[in-house]
Amino acid sequence: MTKFGTVFKQGGKKALLCGSGELGKEVAIELQRLGIEVIALDKYENAPAMQVAHKSYVVSMLDGEKLREIISTEKPDYIIPEVEAIATKTLVELEKEGYNVIPTARATFLTMNREGIRRLAAEELGIKTSEYRFAATHDGFVDAVKAVGIPCVVKPIMSSSGHGQSVIKSESDIENAWKIAQEGGRAGAGKVIVEAFVKFDYEITLLTVRHKGGTSFLEPIGHWQKDGDYQESWQPQPTTPEVLQKAQQIAEKITTALGGYGIFGVEMFVSGNDVIFSEVSPRPHDTGMVTMISQDLSEFALHVRAILGLPIPNIAFHGPSASKAVVVSGDSDHVTFENLEEALNIPDTQIRIFGKPEVHDHRRMAVLLARGNDIDDARRKVQEMYSKLKIEI
Ligand code: AMP
Repeated sequence: MTKFGTVFKQGGKKALLCGSGELGKEVAIELQRLGIEVIALDKYENAPAMQVAHKSYVVSMLDGEKLREIISTEKPDYIIPEVEAIATKTLVELEKEGYNVIPTARATFLTMNREGIRRLAAEELGIKTSEYRFAATHDGFVDAVKAVGIPCVVKPIMSSSGHGQSVIKSESDIENAWKIAQEGGRAGAGKVIVEAFVKFDYEITLLTVRHKGGTSFLEPIGHWQKDGDYQESWQPQPTTPEVLQKAQQIAEKITTALGGYGIFGVEMFVSGNDVIFSEVSPRPHDTGMVTMISQDLSEFALHVRAILGLPIPNIAFHGPSASKAVVVSGDSDHVTFENLEEALNIPDTQIRIFGKPEVHDHRRMAVLLARGNDIDDARRKVQEMYSKLKIEI
């Protein structure tokens, strides 16, 4: 039987969030709702999840020693990663010492870079992916492009949100693609993946939750990306029964291999009746923010239920919905959002403002959410909300 004691007292449960962005903030709120103590970590002060946590630490989560020090002091019942950039080797050690890493330390280790997860999916599990090669040197990269063929997509193996990613459309793009990847990778210069360009009809995130009662799939989420970063998502993305079945089989296979309890964002490309695996995150997914309006239990609530070993007997879906990221450009530490009254005067709409303390260059600062009669209607509503919203930097 599950037992939660009183927060701050013996018997109370404690969760430590590695990463305090907008997704972590929603996870923190869901944990708080169940009376779990929340400790939030990130590399800067006042990160979104820190603003709703009981306690926080400013730390580089890539620093294994510091991470271990905090975890030894706090002794959390659950260690919940929100980002890829964590000292995952330390998580593997901590798990061996008895800590509960969500979903598993191996899952965080394998998905920390594109190589681990691609090799697991394509080479061990035989899941269909695009053609690919890895390269760590310039010469190796040129050979990889030749082997994969043009057009192809180049990505640093350690990157997210489109940083360092580019498409080679002709030979003249090769040198520049290498330069972009070397400048944009998370850990500085390094290895890249060269992937054949997939001419997909649409792409989906199939949120998959592994919980005590088994594996459940959410309605597929469609999305569009600009420069490798999500701009809009909607749910449900219409598919054929064959595509849905294939997508669920892939999701089941990869999430079973990663193991543990929690939600996974499985990203796939769909071309005709072909389903091609792209990548998986063992945590809530940014395109899944739409579930804050489309479902009774959002992806964050489901993640928390699964982690805590609570049942998920059903996932109530409220109907066609959409989300739109509000990306602010410029340099400011006092962004203001105006005209919310008009934006929210449209029925069945919501907004989440993340409370990020500042923006440099460009940053996702909020998300607009809407339910509609159909997907087009929901997408039209978030566009209309966006046109009403005024942002001052
Ligand atoms: P990723 O960071 O791997 O999720 O890539 C971000 C986005 O870039 C994807 O959601 C796609 O829209 C696009 N993309 C990535 N890889 C490919 C590919 N091999 N072929 C075509 N588009 C891709």
